[in-house]
Amino acid sequence: MSLLLEVRNIDTFYHASQALFGVELCIGQGEMVTLLGRNGMGKTTTVGSIAGLLRPRSGVIHFRGKPIHDLDADRIGRMGIGLVPEGRQIFPNLTVRENLVAWAANRNGAADPWTLDKVFAFFPRLAERQANMGNQLSGGEQQMLAIGRALMTNPYLIILDEATEGLAPLIREQIWRCLGLIKESGIAVLVIDKYVNKLIGIADRHYILERGRIRWQGTSTELAAQSDLWHRYLGV
Ligand code: ATP
Repeated sequence: MSLLLEVRNIDTFYHASQALFGVELCIGQGEMVTLLGRNGMGKTTTVGSIAGLLRPRSGVIHFRGKPIHDLDADRIGRMGIGLVPEGRQIFPNLTVRENLVAWAANRNGAADPWTLDKVFAFFPRLAERQANMGNQLSGGEQQMLAIGRALMTNPYLIILDEATEGLAPLIREQIWRCLGLIKESGIAVLVIDKYVNKLIGIADRHYILERGRIRWQGTSTELAAQSDLWHRYLGV
């Protein structure tokens, strides 16, 4: 499996306050990886550093073999990283359909790319709501739209921050099923979510952050066998 994303020894700050300390993480092509940790441990900061929303003060990030740690978020998006941000950031005054087609592209050069029809088949609820405005959607529908919007760019890697935060249990199950299908379609996934027992069933590998440092990394089998880690670092 070849490396898609390589984060090496990054330190990221908010002004004088250091949030990440030598964070290292890698994702192989088509792999699903999670970033776990309690609130405030640096997950969103790590995602922001990868996606170009924050600039690491030191360290390097390579995507498909090219350095991206000095690039802006637009450029990184165009290279094939699709972000589903915390809070979804749906355009409230565009319809569902407009939200989906606005940035449609085939960035990974897929032979059978994600299209509007495919996204509507994947999320039938979005097809039903296609003429509704972004601000008329439920939380679950907004999350489906945010995922659909990222898929419409046909990224190599999709990153979901707080994938199921605030969603009803049935919708959460639906989102997790979708993540499995996205991975099967060949797109790599980096997911932040707190339901570690669910993530173990669908992801390949996991990283645990504590106070801005990676404290543990390993496979689903390893994480499932070490429930002491869950208590120590995840509070479950
Ligand atoms: P959550 O799940 O609560 O979003 P997280 O693991 O994603 O938690 P981060 O949001 O990355 O954590 O926060 C890491 C650290 O950086 C925390 O100590 C937080 O207080 C700090 N931090 C986050 N955003 C800012 C900001 N805009 N300005 C200053 N400090 C910040």
